Amino acid sequence: MFGRVNNVMGVEDVPLVAIADAVGTPAYVYSQGAIEDRYRRLARALGGGRARICYAVKANANLAILGLMRELGAGFDIVSAGELQRVLRAGGAAGDVVFSGVGKSVAEIDFALKVGIHCFNVESEAELERLESRARLLSRVAPVSVRVNPDVDAGTHPYISTGRRENKFGVPEGTALGMYRHAAASDALQVRGIDCHIGSQVRELGPYAAACERLLGVVDTLAAEGVPVDHVDLGGGFAVPDDGEPGLDVEAYGQEVAAAVFDRGLELIVEPGRYLVAQAGVLLTRVEYLKRATREGQRNFAVVDAAMNDFLRPALYKARHPVKAVEANDAAPLRWDVVGPVCETGDFLATDRDLALTEGALLAVFGAGAYGMVLSSNYNGRGRAPEVLVSDGDFRVVRRRETVGDQLALEGEGR
Ligand SMILES: *Cc1c(COP(=O)(O)O)cnc(C)c1O
Repeated sequence: MFGRVNNVMGVEDVPLVAIADAVGTPAYVYSQGAIEDRYRRLARALGGGRARICYAVKANANLAILGLMRELGAGFDIVSAGELQRVLRAGGAAGDVVFSGVGKSVAEIDFALKVGIHCFNVESEAELERLESRARLLSRVAPVSVRVNPDVDAGTHPYISTGRRENKFGVPEGTALGMYRHAAASDALQVRGIDCHIGSQVRELGPYAAACERLLGVVDTLAAEGVPVDHVDLGGGFAVPDDGEPGLDVEAYGQEVAAAVFDRGLELIVEPGRYLVAQAGVLLTRVEYLKRATREGQRNFAVVDAAMNDFLRPALYKARHPVKAVEANDAAPLRWDVVGPVCETGDFLATDRDLALTEGALLAVFGAGAYGMVLSSNYNGRGRAPEVLVSDGDFRVVRRRETVGDQLALEGEGR
């Protein structure tokens, strides 16, 4: 969806320059067509509608994106009441929501019980106890799935690996069995499924297949005890291509992993975030200053108007995102570090990139549709960037730029 026509870089035939001129920089730009393509490809790979795709809201929680997901037929995977509010505001149905996360508060549990979500993905015995007592108090029955920690290595960055025994997520199989027995005997809990989520940017099928086998083993044990589950939720984490590495082969996932769940006559739930939106977004930013190296050992810095507060992934995970100049220019290519104005050495968007740059040049940082805007902050007093959605050859602002007034409003008059 992103490409060059007559040397002008655009998205769905809309020149990125036109968007930058209209909304300023930095700005996030998303392609509706790219999201639709990804969603449909995944749905096709997973038995053409047999799986329930619960979009992981935390990847990109803009209301317009959530509304688009709803139209495409997605459910939602949330990790907070705030995300649940967003889903409902975007027209999503509570019955299409699964609720993950290790720290669900009483208020969050109560809210989710009242609106009637599809399932709580329970991460500890203590949470199950809390859920049971809140459900009883509110005269509800809480639908539950236990998040099993399958102790598999997803082969990904330590910060985004979640399925190993040393991680805080889920419970071991033995603990899960005890929780299921308890839930099956409780009038305030209803066993609905079993789940796991082994990490993010998982490229190989092996870890998924191993996790799935573990979960199905628990399903078998439970079935033998007369505790049936309706669904198996294998989480998200489907890798997209980056840094020259390929993404997850979702067609192979469909054939080798999803099929094992379908073969049991069970419903499959998946919770992809990044896969659906990462490559559908760019961050537009403009070069403010060029600081060329003048001595041996110095680096060339392109100081741009976006920073780590806008896009944290390079600083947080050393994520390598392609950066391109939107318009051709005749500057000599040089090796640049693309850095922001924030007062941190870790404030970079890209390092060691061969680019032809001029001051004022418009740049696009690719792969910024997931874990971009949602991780942004007001650090250094910076307002958050606007978000723009491109569809059908046109674009509209789906979140305006944050003003200083927006930032100050929460603090009254000070002291
Ligand atoms: C973060 C998360 C996801 C989505 O991960 P992606 O890498 O964006 O696909 C899904 N499920 C759970 C429980 C998560 O924490």
